[in-house]
Amino acid sequence: MGLYQLARRVNAKRKAFLKMQAGKIMSPVRRIEKVFPPKGGRFVAMTFDDGPDALTVEGRESGLTDIILDELRRCGDKVTFDVIGSTAGNYPDEKGADGTFMWSGNAYDHYPCFGMDELAGAKNRPELVEKILSDGHEISNHGSTHTLFGRMRAVYGARRHFDTLPQVIGDLDDLHSYMLDKFGYKMRLGRPAHYIDRIPDGSDAYDAYRVMGYNYMAASFDGAGWQPRDTYDLEVRDMVEPLARALDSDPNALNGQIIFQKDGCNMARRTPIADALPQQLKILHDLGYKVVSVSELLDMSPFEDLDPDAEEAGAVKYLLDRGHTVGYKNNTFGGARTVTPEELYIMLASPETFREKRHMGQKDIYQAAKRAVNLDIGGASGREIIKAAESVGAELGERAMAIRDKKTVTRLEAVPAIADMVRALEK
Ligand SMILES: [Zn+2]
Repeated sequence: MGLYQLARRVNAKRKAFLKMQAGKIMSPVRRIEKVFPPKGGRFVAMTFDDGPDALTVEGRESGLTDIILDELRRCGDKVTFDVIGSTAGNYPDEKGADGTFMWSGNAYDHYPCFGMDELAGAKNRPELVEKILSDGHEISNHGSTHTLFGRMRAVYGARRHFDTLPQVIGDLDDLHSYMLDKFGYKMRLGRPAHYIDRIPDGSDAYDAYRVMGYNYMAASFDGAGWQPRDTYDLEVRDMVEPLARALDSDPNALNGQIIFQKDGCNMARRTPIADALPQQLKILHDLGYKVVSVSELLDMSPFEDLDPDAEEAGAVKYLLDRGHTVGYKNNTFGGARTVTPEELYIMLASPETFREKRHMGQKDIYQAAKRAVNLDIGGASGREIIKAAESVGAELGERAMAIRDKKTVTRLEAVPAIADMVRALEK
């Protein structure tokens, strides 16, 4: 595990740096780890990766996903199942040793485990998908075959991965179309296998999710269900104690956060989630938490740094609901920052503007927006924004007009005028 821990630490530093950089990039795809704590209660989202899973749990009569669903139904909680299609095509392959990262296969992942692929995945277990949906849970796209988007040599060595953006999109679309055609269900979120973002052709997960119209579903709290220990009981304890500890020091610690869980085996091919989940839920409920899906959480509070009760938040939500790009890649909104003409174009552009199947950096995003928005925005002073809005026949509300005399306008102050403009442009 030493090498993996080191790789994780290096990766964590790199990710912290990238996250800071990402706070300057307006992106149609936001990487969502957590949100500004919603008001009026405590809310936490729970996500379950790698299922659905019909593997029978020792000592129980039903399969794992059924056990999870029964418990959630008993408690009235809703979650997000981050499903795969099927790993049955990931052969030839060899099984690696239990307890290592190759536990389910050397060249690929196999769920629920090597040689038993038909027990897991939406395509093999449509009856479980049906139950998940009829219980009111959300389903997100974890990749049809759970193939890595790119390489991560330190951990996965020479494991197979995709090489190009079209390959990644093809795999995502395979599962997306399946869910749409068979269940009439449209997925809105994706999470890359093992969080590997970089595709070898110079594109990344953000490009793939932009084309798919998804947001990137990350998490802020690791439910630890993937980690192997000497015994099952220790594994269950590992999933319960950190949660209890985090909430012990601050009962609000998980309000607005996203918990990572597994609808599948850990590296020792055991399923501690079956016994840990009731304990986790009890701890959460005792503190008044309601467990929700990621989309429900985003609906209450879309960004990490925007109070959903702020007066302009309604205008932000209006734009988000129409699929407009208003925030930064790291799921911040940066409400206090001065808005720029480039950002105004990006906020005004319709979602279809950014569906090009190639790598798009910030400059490409801006240029696509400028081409799509048939307007001349010379500057971003209050007077210039109002002038542009009036030129498209926008009926400006009081809040939009409040910026009229401002030399510089913050992003939050600009949003009501942008919303009024989008309303006019849609007519
Ligand atoms: Zn996974």
